[in-house]
Amino acid sequence: MPIYQLRCPAGHGYEVIQSFAAALPPCRECGQPTSKVPSVFGLAGQAERSLPPAPEAMPQTWRGTFNGDPEYVGSLRRTAERRRDLEERHPELAGDRRPVLAHEGRYESAPLRRGDPVPRRSAGDSGVSGP
Ligand SMILES: [Zn+2]
Repeated sequence: MPIYQLRCPAGHGYEVIQSFAAALPPCRECGQPTSKVPSVFGLAGQAERSLPPAPEAMPQTWRGTFNGDPEYVGSLRRTAERRRDLEERHPELAGDRRPVLAHEGRYESAPLRRGDPVPRRSAGDSGVSGP
């Protein structure tokens, strides 16, 4: 989804990540209606930029970097830095990166991650995870 720079009549500005068709949210500070700010880097109306890919989507192998092509590796590093900056501003993008400890059986629908409380197995537990 694209990133939009929004501004309200009072001058508050911030970014949102949402689909092109979604309605613009009211200002976080004062609740007034917001509008998209045209990008200074592009033509008017092209304020949207594409999201840098998540780390999981980056090349994971040497061959994936064209055997370490310096130009390509440099571009990957810049992409990763943009992603990190973006995730600092939008932590919801990063999701849950804690290590998964269990993902089978009762944890299939909701993997157990490090730091999660381990649910106690009750006497009548059939192994099916409840609500
Ligand atoms: Zn405002």
